Amino acid sequence: MEDLNGTVDESVSWTNKPKVIIIGAGIAGIAAGEYLARKGLTDFKILEASNRTGGRIWSVDVDDDGHKAEMGANWIHGIERNPIYQIADQNHLLELRHANRNLRRRDLHATESGDIVSDKMVKEVDFSYGMLIAECEDYFHSSMPTPEEGDSVGAHLEREFQEKLDKYSNGDRRFRQMVFDQRILLECCITGCDNMSDVSLEEFGCYEELPGVHYTIPPGFEAILEILKKNIPEENILLNKPVKTINWSPSENNKSEEVCVECENGEKFYANHVICTVSIGVLKAACDRMFYPPLPKDKQQAIQSLGFGIVDKVILEFDQTVVDSDVFRIELLWDRDNVKEKDLRYTWMRKIYSFEVVHENILVGWLSGKEALYMESLTEDQIAEDCRDLLRKFLNRNDIPLPKRVIRTRWGNNPYTRGSYSFLAIGARQKDIYTLQEPLTASGCDKPQVLFGGEATHPTFYSTTHGALLTGYREAQRIVKLHTE
Ligand SMILES: Cc1cc2nc3c(=O)[nH]c(=O)nc-3n(C[C@H](O)[C@H](O)[C@H](O)COP(=O)(O)OP(=O)(O)OC[C@H]3O[C@@H](n4cnc5c(N)ncnc54)[C@H](O)[C@@H]3O)c2cc1C
Repeated sequence: MEDLNGTVDESVSWTNKPKVIIIGAGIAGIAAGEYLARKGLTDFKILEASNRTGGRIWSVDVDDDGHKAEMGANWIHGIERNPIYQIADQNHLLELRHANRNLRRRDLHATESGDIVSDKMVKEVDFSYGMLIAECEDYFHSSMPTPEEGDSVGAHLEREFQEKLDKYSNGDRRFRQMVFDQRILLECCITGCDNMSDVSLEEFGCYEELPGVHYTIPPGFEAILEILKKNIPEENILLNKPVKTINWSPSENNKSEEVCVECENGEKFYANHVICTVSIGVLKAACDRMFYPPLPKDKQQAIQSLGFGIVDKVILEFDQTVVDSDVFRIELLWDRDNVKEKDLRYTWMRKIYSFEVVHENILVGWLSGKEALYMESLTEDQIAEDCRDLLRKFLNRNDIPLPKRVIRTRWGNNPYTRGSYSFLAIGARQKDIYTLQEPLTASGCDKPQVLFGGEATHPTFYSTTHGALLTGYREAQRIVKLHTE
């Protein structure tokens, strides 16, 4: 489809105007609505289960000075061809970019006993690590078979890195191993998995990284949504409307509006087309009772095969700055040989790979997988104590106070996401994404009733906001094409 960013040729000539329901007011759903509105279609409703728009884009206030922290999407991943970057740039949302980074240039690589690993060693490990990641990506781009059947990115990286480590003496080896392990924890959060051994080596390279740096949005990622929402009539977005079922059997519904969407409260909405943008976590949990007739077997199979992991954040607010004024990140170099406990109560924090200084008194840490899910079950006081103890060890300072406030995310337990973002798990293929995005057309009908958007339906930009936005445009554009000359 040529109109990827939804920016060219506004005028269309409708043969007839259909009625549309969009399920989910995340960026995919909002983008779909914005596109339809811009093309002159106003007879649509966006049904959102929760009490806010944005879904996995969620910016919260962290102090009285207007500073934001992101509970979900954090960075604009790349610049070139990135529609999120274009919106942010055109609307001057990036003017404050780099403000924090200009002052805070140093990333501290610290071990559990407070040792600092030299930048030189970190750079050397990063170089090898970067080469190994590129090697993993090559399996997808070439037809080269993976070393083992069903091979994982985690297994490949571990095998190859151990070989590189062999040439170092014991002390050096240990520190390099710790840096490598830290990069793996980071990779788990980038990928959205518990462990890199869950990720398909064969398909890893199908994710496309856009060129350019990764920007944050100082007024908050939600500002992107607010810009898109300006084109959507307010009354078209209905909050607190969790959808229970989508009946796409025209014979059971009104002839002219073939789909019936029923909400948990029994309210029914009829339309010619439904764009479903709920996360694949929601589909995994509910697709067998959500759709009538049931989804085709290959779509059900694709939903179950694709990976959907948990990535969470822990945001700590202190009374005062707890790190030196030039430090941007404390990279946590955990020692794999120090794990004496198996109980997650004592080990969950070992999955946090760094703390980043987002504002003077505010640190943000990321973690993924089962440790993240466990963290979701803790009280904020427990998290505060565990993080204070951790920082005391890594910074070798007993004066680190308890944070005065902890904000943490609970994406695993959120019933309307059930996780964070999708990845190609072992056994999944890129073709599963194409199967997932395939619209449903009831027998005897010439136009599809149910269309699928959302980050997990983008074949190369899955897991991102730009991927999600483009799928919203893609499906809205599909509808426009069906009803215009
Ligand atoms: C911790 C975290 C960090 C991230 N970091 C980045 C990042 O730095 N950069 C980046 O580009 N991306 C990032 N992402 C990913 C990005 O946020 C998502 O890919 C994107 O926001 C997904 O948008 P979506 O519209 O596809 O889905 P969602 O945002 O999940 O929207 C779907 C909507 O559907 C609603 N819904 C669910 N079930 C129902 C139902 N039954 N009835 C009605 N409504 C329903 C949900 O409430 C939700 O609002 C991150 C995500 C997380 C969780």
